[in-house]
Parts: sequence; C-alpha cells; structure tokens
Amino acid sequence: MTSRVGIPIFRNYLCTMRENLSSWNDTIVALATPPGLGAIAVIRLSGPSAIEIMSGVFSKKSLSTKASHTVHFGKIINDNAVLDEVVVTIYRAPKSYTGEEVVEISCHGSPFIQDSILQLLQAKGARLAKPGEFTQRAFLNGKLDLTQAEAVADLIASSTEAARKTALYNLKGGFSSDLQVMREKLIKFSALIELELDFSQEDVAFANKKSLELLVHELQEKTKTLLLSFQLGNVIKHGVQVAIVGKPNAGKSTLLNALLNENRALVSEIPGTTRDTVEEYLNIQGVLYKLIDTAGIRHTTTDSIEQMGIEKSKEKILAADIVIALFDASTTTAAQIKEWKQELLGAEKIIFVGNKMDIAINSTLETDNALSDIIFIAAKDKHNILALENALHQKAVGDGLNKEGTIVTNSRHVASLKRLLFALNDIETGLADNVTGDLLAIDINHALHYLGTITGQITNEDQLDFIFSKFCIGK
Ligand code: GDP
Repeated sequence: MTSRVGIPIFRNYLCTMRENLSSWNDTIVALATPPGLGAIAVIRLSGPSAIEIMSGVFSKKSLSTKASHTVHFGKIINDNAVLDEVVVTIYRAPKSYTGEEVVEISCHGSPFIQDSILQLLQAKGARLAKPGEFTQRAFLNGKLDLTQAEAVADLIASSTEAARKTALYNLKGGFSSDLQVMREKLIKFSALIELELDFSQEDVAFANKKSLELLVHELQEKTKTLLLSFQLGNVIKHGVQVAIVGKPNAGKSTLLNALLNENRALVSEIPGTTRDTVEEYLNIQGVLYKLIDTAGIRHTTTDSIEQMGIEKSKEKILAADIVIALFDASTTTAAQIKEWKQELLGAEKIIFVGNKMDIAINSTLETDNALSDIIFIAAKDKHNILALENALHQKAVGDGLNKEGTIVTNSRHVASLKRLLFALNDIETGLADNVTGDLLAIDINHALHYLGTITGQITNEDQLDFIFSKFCIGK
C-alpha cells in the first residue's frame, strides 16, 4: 500500500486524547483572582454541572433557565444561613472561555468568604481545578490552539508593553494563522503527490516539480524568519541582562540610580529567571532590563584592561546581553578611549559611556569623530541619560518592535520549528535527487507533524499536562 500524507495523520488525535482524560466530565472550581484580601474576588466554575451546582446554593433558584451572558444578583446560602451577597455571571456552552457551562461568582474579597464558597461548591459536587485546567479545557474544546493557550500564560506574566503586545498578538491567533497558512500549503503539496501515487501505474505527473521546489523554498524562508524572531522574542519575554562595569568611582552607582529613578520596573514573576543574585529591573521604552548582580558590579575594585576595570568583570560581561562600559571622562584622554575601543574591537554588546562630562576638562571628546559612537553623560545631573536609553533599546531590539509580524517567544515552538526546517530541507534534497513520490511523502508527513506539534494538533497528554501545569490555578 502506498503511503498516505496530510490530514489522516491528525485523524481522531484530539478525540482520543479527550476520551483519555479521565476527569473530562466533571465540574471544576477555583479562585480566579489572586488569593488574599481584596474588595471583591472572582470564583469560577466550569463543567457540565456548573450552573446546576450554582443554582443549588443560590437564593434565586431559577439560574438554570437563564440565558447565556447574563448577570444575576443574589445570596449564597449554606444550611439556611447567608454566606455572602454575590453577583453571578453565567456563560452557556459553547460560548464561554472553556467552551463549557461556566459560572463566575463575584463575591466579597475576604479570604474567609472565598474559602467558604470554595468549600461549599466542592461539597456540592465541584472539584478544585488543577493549574491551567480552565485553559486546558478551552484548548481541548477547540476554543484555542496550543500557541494561543500558551499566549494566555504569557499575557498573565507580561510585565512590559512589548511582552503584553506580543502575547496578545499570539492570543489573537497571529502565530497560529502563520502556521495555518504553511500547513495548508504543505497539504496542497501532499495532495498532488498523493494523486501521483494513486495514478502511479499510468505514469502521470500532477505535481509540477518546479512549483514544488518554490513552495518548499518559501516555507523554508518563513520558518527561518520565525526562528530568527526568537532572538527578539527571548528579549521580550525574559528581558535583557545588562552589566555596568568600570573602575571604582567612575559613577556606576550614580548611573544606576539615574536609570532607576525614571524606569524602575514593577516585576512580579518573570518566567525562567532566578532571584538568587542582586537584580534591579528597569522598564525602558517597553522593554525589561535586568541590571545583574549590581552589588558586585558596583564594588568592582580591580582593573586589568588599563583603567577600565573590565578584565575582572569578565564573568559579568559574559553573562550579560549588553555591557555598559563606564569611564570617568573627566580624567580620560581621547587617546586612552581609542586604545580601549581598539582592545575591545568586535565586542558587539558593549556600549562605551563617558561620565562626568560636567567637569570634563577635555571638551573636545564629544566632537571627536572617532568617538562618535561613545555616549557622554553626566550621571549626577541626569544629563544625556536618554541617549543611553536609546542606545540600550537599539542594541536590545533594534526596530524589531515596530515591525509587523510574528515574534516567536517560546522555546518549545523553536524546537519544533527547527525540526520542521530539517524536514523541509529533506524534501528539498528529495526533490533535487528525484526521489519517488512515496519517499517525498514521508518527509512531508514529518513537516506536517512538526507544525502540528506547535499548534497542538499533534500532542500527548503528558506534554499537555506539562504545558498547563505552568499556569496559575484558576486560569
Ligand atoms: P562607582 O564607584 O563607580 O559606583 O561610583 P559612584 O557612583 O559611587 O560615584 C563616585 C563619585 O563620582 C561620587 O562622588 C559621585 O557623586 C561622583 N559622580 C558620579 N557621577 C558624576 C557626574 O556625572 N558628575 C560629577 N561631577 N560627579 C559624579
């Protein structure tokens, strides 16, 4: 029998997975707002019995007859006693976040009330949700694909404008539609090959080899562009590590304070980062910067490359994405600066910054053409700090944030895209070697498979559990 490519490999995959989920039919409950005291808290129920369970504890029993997307004020009653006055919103399947019957209860935000309601709803038949289980159900019900579900987690964790924007783009299906277009093109490709296989006895060619080559080339380029975007994606998602190095008294602490004053970032939890070292977070022009091990950097006392104090800071330089090499411009000659630049030639990630320009005796430094890429500041007066911020932004993201298009931020996607590229390269080689249609079909199958692993059309329960376990409870 000849190989078959395309859609059949996806057949029933999700269905099987859904059937395998032992607890698929139960109703889950969790606090959707952060735990602790607040004006209000939101508790969410999802599952076939969500509305029925809610009706059982609600003062207005008629909930089960109410339409989707309606809001109801009433009391939660436990053993004839009023537990709280609440507002209940009901969403009927499939028009809800999870695609199931959903109830959202806005109650008063005391932890005691939240806990009592959660206990009561569990006593009435709901089960406490696992982390990410609401979104997992949304995925399994076809409300989101896997890239969109992952974007939900990214959106919740986003702490800068760039991270929010990228996550929202992916949540709206930006990345998914790129992948869908690629998938459709590959399936069209595979259909032609399949036709040839069906008519192999008659020796007819349906697939025009040249156009197939062009198609593979187009898909390779698209995949490469997506892979390249990860560099930027990583910056957006995890921030940029910056080290300020320089000899003692160059003004490192003063510069750090000048930068922090304007840009101190409110950071809760950034995925993949450790808090073991001393770190200061800056949000400059929508991008997160981590000033790493600033205590250490501030107390750098030794210098190996003459007067710059860079040699002993090598570890910090290696760890950093960008290095601000700060020197005291009031005690430095143009010749010295040129010498350092020469020594560090090719160190792309270094930004040379001359400080204390307010007391610099050599006022020609700023007008010296050979030093035009050096930023001269007076950290104490916050003079020209904006130029430094612009230079950081340029080095970190260039004009990448202004461009339209998908930015890949997830290393799982990168792994699949790399494998996809290998499969596309194999198709290219096969076409060049004039291999038979059934061999080409195997490589096309591989390419389709890797595309499917990104969007979740091809996946397994363990992988899903792993992905969703990184979500918070209630999401
Ligand atoms: P660090 O050892 O590199 O961290 O240097 P500090 O930030 O502690 O600064 C050393 C000294 O230089 C302090 O007395 C600062 O007030 C002074 N300083 C820092 N920046 C400037 C500046 O832009 N102009 C002047 N005149 N003094 C500065």
